[in-house]
Amino acid sequence: MKIYQEKVGAVIARLKINIESGLNLEEVQKKQKQEGMNRFDEAKKESIFKKFIHHLTDVTTIILMVAAIISFYMAITTDHGDYVEGMMIIAIVIINAVLALVQENNAEKSLAALQSMNQQTTKVLREGQEQMIPSEELVVGDVILLEAGGVIPADARVLESIQLRVEESALTGESEAVEKHAEFTTDEELSLGDQQNMVFSGCLVANGRGRAIVTAIGMKTEMGKIAKLLNQEGSKKTPLQNRLDSLGKRVSLLALIAAAIVFIIGVYQNEPLLEMFMTAVSLAVAAVPETLMVIVTLTLSFGVQKMVKKHAIIRKLPAVETLGTANVICSDKTGTLTQNKMQVRRVWFRGDTVVDVEEAMTDEAMEVLKMAALCSNAKVEQVEEDSQQVVGNPTEVAIVSAVENNYHTKKEIEEKYPRVAELPFDSSRKVMTTVHKMGKKYISITKGAFDVMLPKFRFGDLEQATVVNDRFGKKALRVIAVGFRIFEEKPSAFTSEYLENEMNLMGLIGMIDPPRPESKGAIARAKRAGIKTVMITGDHVVTASAIAKELGILTHAKEAMSGAELHQITDEELTKRVKEYSVYARVTPEDKIRIVKAWQKTGAVVAMTGDGVNDAPALKASDVGCAMGIAGTDVAKSAADIVLTDDNFATIVDAVAEGRTVYKNIRKAVNFLLSCNISEIFVVLIAMLLGWGAPVIALQLLFVNVVADGLPGFALSREKAEEGAMKEKPIAKNQSIFGDGLWKWILFNSILFTIVTLTGYYLGSFVDGVSTTVGASHEVGQTMAFLILGYSSIVHIFNCRSSQSIFKVSLSSNKQLVEMAVLAIFIMTMVALLPPLQTIFSVVPLSMNHWRIIISFSLLPVLATELVKFHYSDTETED
Ligand code: ATP
Repeated sequence: MKIYQEKVGAVIARLKINIESGLNLEEVQKKQKQEGMNRFDEAKKESIFKKFIHHLTDVTTIILMVAAIISFYMAITTDHGDYVEGMMIIAIVIINAVLALVQENNAEKSLAALQSMNQQTTKVLREGQEQMIPSEELVVGDVILLEAGGVIPADARVLESIQLRVEESALTGESEAVEKHAEFTTDEELSLGDQQNMVFSGCLVANGRGRAIVTAIGMKTEMGKIAKLLNQEGSKKTPLQNRLDSLGKRVSLLALIAAAIVFIIGVYQNEPLLEMFMTAVSLAVAAVPETLMVIVTLTLSFGVQKMVKKHAIIRKLPAVETLGTANVICSDKTGTLTQNKMQVRRVWFRGDTVVDVEEAMTDEAMEVLKMAALCSNAKVEQVEEDSQQVVGNPTEVAIVSAVENNYHTKKEIEEKYPRVAELPFDSSRKVMTTVHKMGKKYISITKGAFDVMLPKFRFGDLEQATVVNDRFGKKALRVIAVGFRIFEEKPSAFTSEYLENEMNLMGLIGMIDPPRPESKGAIARAKRAGIKTVMITGDHVVTASAIAKELGILTHAKEAMSGAELHQITDEELTKRVKEYSVYARVTPEDKIRIVKAWQKTGAVVAMTGDGVNDAPALKASDVGCAMGIAGTDVAKSAADIVLTDDNFATIVDAVAEGRTVYKNIRKAVNFLLSCNISEIFVVLIAMLLGWGAPVIALQLLFVNVVADGLPGFALSREKAEEGAMKEKPIAKNQSIFGDGLWKWILFNSILFTIVTLTGYYLGSFVDGVSTTVGASHEVGQTMAFLILGYSSIVHIFNCRSSQSIFKVSLSSNKQLVEMAVLAIFIMTMVALLPPLQTIFSVVPLSMNHWRIIISFSLLPVLATELVKFHYSDTETED
């Protein structure tokens, strides 16, 4: 017999569970030992060794290996040849691969750590207490609580169901949510989709709530059976990574063409064939910006780590880039801009009197509150022996707390009027109803948004209530209307149409939800950064506008649009007018998608917040979907790009700032590496064209690439945000990475490096007058070219740190970069000065004059760049 064919009682008896208290810790530990954890087997990761081999089989590495073999061949066939060059090439290849591997591994590790932060949690009943536990820790027999928006953590038999509907498309392909019933029984053989008394791991609770008892975990669940290997989507590249990948390929192609030209010229000029081949190959290899991709991955992962510290967990890597380009943030009000700590302030009963419950509670006001408390699911929990806490939906928490604080208990009222049915609250309906037994009669209580309930009332002072509702709203109070109906017998239907009509108005409750203290500042900061904040709320337009004004989102009442108005205009009209509005009130989550799309049609990059099940489509449609970590449902989280662990609006603005820094740091790396690589191509190509011979040998070129470019280059990923980054406009959506004049800088610096290196090479090779002690020679020229190329690259990294003068950027803000630069200078100098290294790298001793030229030439490009920067900053201040 299958589980769904068994009676609930039989399942419970077989599993020997007390469903009132759940499992105890001892049983859980025993079961975990026997059955393992509730997780899927992960796909095997590529081993370090495999990754290493992967790096070694890279095209550029293969070319280098060929070069090493040719070098060995030359050493064997010619009597003056030596093996050192070939060995050094191999050593450099290995060092390069190891360096890349270590950095890549660090980046991957921090990204993998993110995955574990996205861990799902489940509410279970254990040791008589409801508690949240990581879903991984569930065992067979655990009693789980299901709520709308949750992801079902394991296969389970339903024990209790209240309007429970589950979306099982992940398992059955059927996108329509199916109803689940605890009492369903069958003898027949059913497919998964028809097993109405079972819920399955990985499916989503679309509506209602319920309880279920876990029957299978991990790989034994239905999902586990089909998803034998669950691969995470972590390894996908971001759009920028893809763009840079193709950029890298283009530069490589350029390098190959240059290498071919160099080789042909060399042959034409009767240079030794194999040596020319070596120069050409090394040029091709040296000019390929292979470190660029590693630096980009590092920068992204570093940005991600910093965002985590600021309470934003990145779920999808491309979001890091998109955040930097965001220029509209559509934010929920409750909980994100406000504290979500509602407090009842006023109650209206009838006539002119409004009771300020903080000053003096009256019996009549208490009746309204008690009735509202009956129609709510907020619960009183014992925290410690003598302290209690009300938990649940904040609107309901406020109501129940007001009751409890005034010497009544929810328990006592519930015992008097036991609940027999419930129509749950949801953000689209904006109301909730419960039915209770009242002696021999029945009472249905409905609470919800006043304007939604107004047409459903038949009795009561509706005119005065409308006036009071407006007055409350202007004071930024959220208004909850309470209505009821009495039935002589059990209502014939528990439907919204029947119960939520012809009601009596009981009263209005006004509650405050104060703004978060940091919201106002964050909105102003976003504004300075060219980002518009739009408030989207289910609250009333008057309440919403009052808060928006306080926060600086809205300056005039006409910037607010209500859901009703929104429904009247077409999508085209909305697109035309969307920029005029900063507040959307009384909207449903479904409306959010229209607002996102309208903004996107104007070319905006939109970040959108969301927490509920129905927010998922808007979160997916937006450019950066931000789910709430605390109040958010699993469904919203899995649709989002980032999760805000503190549900705070200010966190989005911080994440945008971080996104901008990541983008800028990648541009800095592109600037640094490309100016160095392009100048290498120019130097060799021009020298060959002029018939000056090879200005640097293969080994020297490789060494410059690894030591002078690689070592400090990696540290660029750690550059801190530049001052003023959040005073600039957002990065344009499709702006090329070279946009905003970057390519001009790259060209400018490449030309400068080429000029100083070639002049140095010329002076060393051909001008005898430079020194009285060391005469001009090809080797002296090569030594000078090698050192100028290396030193100027290292110094250039300080140029790239900022668009401002190097003297304005503190050295201590990126210590690693400074250390790496000093280390690189030290290594280059050792190669130039220590005789054994001189031999290996074909470097010769130089005179003081040569050194003076090298040092001043290496600093010249910085000087020139400083002058240009100064000129630009001058014209900017004049503007
Ligand atoms: P925001 O959209 O800014 O996050 P919100 O999520 O609180 O606000 P909803 O939850 O959609 O907005 O609430 C919309 C309206 O529904 C509220 O203004 C209130 O009148 C009513 N409401 C909220 N919670 C409840 C509840 N538990 N029972 C009945 N009505 C409620």
